[in-house]
Amino acid sequence: MKTYKAIFFDWDGTAVRSRKEPADKVAACMKPLLEKGVKLIIISGTTYDKIAEGRLHGYFTEKELDNLYLGLARGAHNYSFKDGQPVLHGEFLPKTEEKLRVHDCVFRLHQHLLREYGLESDIVFTRPNYCKLDLMVEHDRSDSLFLQEGETEMVQKILRGHGIAGGLAGLMAMAEQIGRETGIAVKATTDAKYLEIGLTTKSDNVDYFADQVLVPENIKMSECCFWGDEFIYLDEGIPGSDAYMITEKTKGAEFYDVSDIEGKRPKEVDHTGGETEKFHLFLKKQFSER
Ligand SMILES: [Mg+2]
Repeated sequence: MKTYKAIFFDWDGTAVRSRKEPADKVAACMKPLLEKGVKLIIISGTTYDKIAEGRLHGYFTEKELDNLYLGLARGAHNYSFKDGQPVLHGEFLPKTEEKLRVHDCVFRLHQHLLREYGLESDIVFTRPNYCKLDLMVEHDRSDSLFLQEGETEMVQKILRGHGIAGGLAGLMAMAEQIGRETGIAVKATTDAKYLEIGLTTKSDNVDYFADQVLVPENIKMSECCFWGDEFIYLDEGIPGSDAYMITEKTKGAEFYDVSDIEGKRPKEVDHTGGETEKFHLFLKKQFSER
């Protein structure tokens, strides 16, 4: 098995099955690699307090933490560690006026959907640099906060049932158009249930670490891999959130998808399946074969 100098990975659905599940298992797999100097870079849409209840650093020694990084909140926060504590290595936060313009754009989209198509939606405003528009208000994901089998079909059915002929792809174009009318260049991504609308994406996190960690350490992209569970296309031209880890800078790396869902994926992605267990096993082998 090839061994990598840097491993980027998604958290929910890749490292842990749900947020209620303790991070013990994945942390135990990460620890020996961090100790060996392998760079582990967690890329997640969520914020630090939602990763192992904000206590991920408690699993590792200061020396191990020197090799751990997190790129969170869709491009907003990039963390490293100092004296055993997380510190912002870099951040991109919109100014209040910009943030309000994003809120305005998402609210206008919500109004447009209700007025023109009779489609109900909910908005989560309290994210650092984006909003979440819930397209399946009746559908509760309970503890599993990631794409579930059948959800893509469900959301497409809801959209088409309300006369949105372009489906998810049409809706995302609509969001970006309303952004332009509101005077803000927003990027829309989706995991089927939620349309996420903001100024940055996971692409901004991975590019940040490519420049700030890999370049100074002289680590080549061919020595890196990326793991996630949402690479699958949700609609023509609309890949899942983990596909945003594939950028001009990172495309020379290797990409793996642990999701068991069948479907079309970007050509760079190797579909392993096997969910979190597959990823844990990969980490264990990365240590044992070194
Ligand atoms: Mg995930």
